[in-house]
Amino acid sequence: MIENLSGECGMGRRRKQVVKIVRRTLPELYLCPRCGKNTVKAGISKSTSKATVICSSCNLRSSFDATRNMVPVDAYCVFVDQHYSQGSQEETEVA
Ligand SMILES: [Zn+2]
Repeated sequence: MIENLSGECGMGRRRKQVVKIVRRTLPELYLCPRCGKNTVKAGISKSTSKATVICSSCNLRSSFDATRNMVPVDAYCVFVDQHYSQGSQEETEVA
């Protein structure tokens, strides 16, 4: 069983040269829950353990305590949650 599997794998797959993905120098941008643009920046300060999320388009922003293993995507998720929980009480329609 195991021999068969490994043999199949060795025959079927040739090693391909892995293309290195160049890391972008620009920070990753996320979709804004308010204005719908891809202009939200999420950052985590390791020194202060604070997460800051800001939309550069509509200036929607939030900062909160970050957990130890928090990554920007997590901060963004909290930001979106906060927006929807707050936004439902405030004005939802802007003319
Ligand atoms: Zn926005």
